[in-house]
Amino acid sequence: MTMDTVATALVPHTWSFDARQRSATLAAVDGGTFDLVIVGGGINGAGVAHDAALRGLRVLLLEQRDLAFGTSSRSSKLVHGGLRYLETYQFRLVFEGTNERAALRRIAPHLVRPLMFALPVYKEDRFPLWMVDVGLWMYDGLALFKNERLHTTLRSPERMLEHEPLLNPEGLSGGIIYYDCMTDDARITLENAMAASELGSPVVTRVRVTGVDDARATDRPCTVHFVDTFSGRSYRVFSHGVVNCTGAWTDAVRQMAEVDAAVIRPTKGVHVVVKSSRLEVQYANTLTTPQDGRVFFAIPWQGRTVLGTTDTDFDGDLGEIEVSGEDVDYLLAAANHRFPTAQLTRDDVIATWAGLRPLVKPEGDVSESEIPREHQIYRDGRMTTVAGGKLTTYRRMAAETVDAAAAAAGLGVGPSKTLRHLLPGARGLDQDLNWAATDLAERSSLPEDVCRRLVGVYGVHADRVAAYVAAAPSFGDRISPDRPAIFAEVAHAVDHELAATVDDVLVRRTSVALTAEDQGSEAAERAADIMGARLDWTAAERQTHLDEFERTLNLSRAFRL
Ligand SMILES: Cc1cc2nc3c(=O)[nH]c(=O)nc-3n(C[C@H](O)[C@H](O)[C@H](O)COP(=O)(O)OP(=O)(O)OC[C@H]3O[C@@H](n4cnc5c(N)ncnc54)[C@H](O)[C@@H]3O)c2cc1C
Repeated sequence: MTMDTVATALVPHTWSFDARQRSATLAAVDGGTFDLVIVGGGINGAGVAHDAALRGLRVLLLEQRDLAFGTSSRSSKLVHGGLRYLETYQFRLVFEGTNERAALRRIAPHLVRPLMFALPVYKEDRFPLWMVDVGLWMYDGLALFKNERLHTTLRSPERMLEHEPLLNPEGLSGGIIYYDCMTDDARITLENAMAASELGSPVVTRVRVTGVDDARATDRPCTVHFVDTFSGRSYRVFSHGVVNCTGAWTDAVRQMAEVDAAVIRPTKGVHVVVKSSRLEVQYANTLTTPQDGRVFFAIPWQGRTVLGTTDTDFDGDLGEIEVSGEDVDYLLAAANHRFPTAQLTRDDVIATWAGLRPLVKPEGDVSESEIPREHQIYRDGRMTTVAGGKLTTYRRMAAETVDAAAAAAGLGVGPSKTLRHLLPGARGLDQDLNWAATDLAERSSLPEDVCRRLVGVYGVHADRVAAYVAAAPSFGDRISPDRPAIFAEVAHAVDHELAATVDDVLVRRTSVALTAEDQGSEAAERAADIMGARLDWTAAERQTHLDEFERTLNLSRAFRL
């Protein structure tokens, strides 16, 4: 079969992001031909799909679990220039990071929010305050002085403590207040995939790619084989190019296309969440650990304090990452050293998450934290692989990857357009998010904190979520009594956000499992009832999905055993 004779079974149209249409989508794509098949629905896969679709390519995105199931829901959730890369003179990385931060603020203002950071400086630190100040001038400079705020230097311990009173005063010489951003990693991934789907690119979750044939052939397209992990049914599609965006799984997918060279060295990073009443930080603090001098953060997030992260080599099951007692104790000891009155113990930990950095394997024997964070793009026949990099620079990486993949597939494309296209939740969104939330509260009679959450998470789609409550008031109930997320979001996630399991909703669509005191375990049954009614689950399917969610909670609580 030659490339010209492969029938294209697809009629371009906007694909549904309704999980109830999954079977129809699978039937429609089966046997079809695409310009690019993208394997992996993390931030890189979703970003590549969006970029390619905007350039007019016919794209199919395949994800084995859920959008952002891998590292892209388990990061520190910072959109940042990476201040610490200045230490190693990685100016290009910082320049790209700070400029992408500004770009993402423009295209997704609801998801990428300014966050003020404190960087306390101690006498024993490697760099004195004046030198850190110079570094921050460089940081602001590499952002072309376009930060929403320039840094402030606090030249005495007293001034630093006025800003962050719980810091350890011993040996403190002062500090810096500077600007970066915070995001919801899973949701920015989701919105990129949603944008691709609106442009005519089908996105299918819970399908595992099992084979890639003919990646090196020049006279015919590649064949991509995949399996529906719900039904076990096999499918195949044809494609002029394949883009491997599978993060920590990269090497396994390269092997499917008979590319042997391993390029990834995954390292594990753990975060722990404590109630802010146990450690109330005013800023996101950039600190060093007393154990090994590594940078770690104490970040205020969704009314909690997040501590992270660790950095250790990982060689276990990539989809089942346990948080060990050692991981948790390392972070608690570091936090207790920097905030001595907190006296945090394992009992204070509400939730944890663990992710794998898909780092590009360096030459020689270097420690985990010394592995460069830059991305690499590899071309092997018609398969293009993107590996490494950061969430912050996904848009730029996606643009470069599409350039490379289009060239590998022999497709002519124009330049990337993602810089000028708002993500779906940002289209028509009022610049003043506080006003938008107050307005929604007045119109919907939902509580103010719920409306602030809805606008901050869904942007213009907040109204669509609120409409579920107008139709059935019980949808206004909180998923967890101490959180602003409501049950309407569960139904909305099925109908508009491709959520197919309880885990998808409670972990990645709503973050309830990362922030609620019970991690959503009390709400799981009711969430399953809402989803099961929409998705026609059998009793056995319902139980399978509840078991999957419980497994996630067990992995995050493994440190307690
Ligand atoms: C602890 C930690 C903290 C971090 N903090 C930050 C931060 O604050 N800011 C920042 O900018 N960056 C941060 N990063 C980096 C950033 O999170 C990652 O670079 C990014 O999420 C990687 O995305 P990805 O799409 O390459 O991989 P993933 O998100 O892992 O996506 C790969 C996807 O491929 C799917 N897949 C695998 N095999 C198959 C198959 N055979 N078929 C179909 N699908 C498949 C997986 O299920 C997965 O969903 C952090 C990383 C870690 C680990």
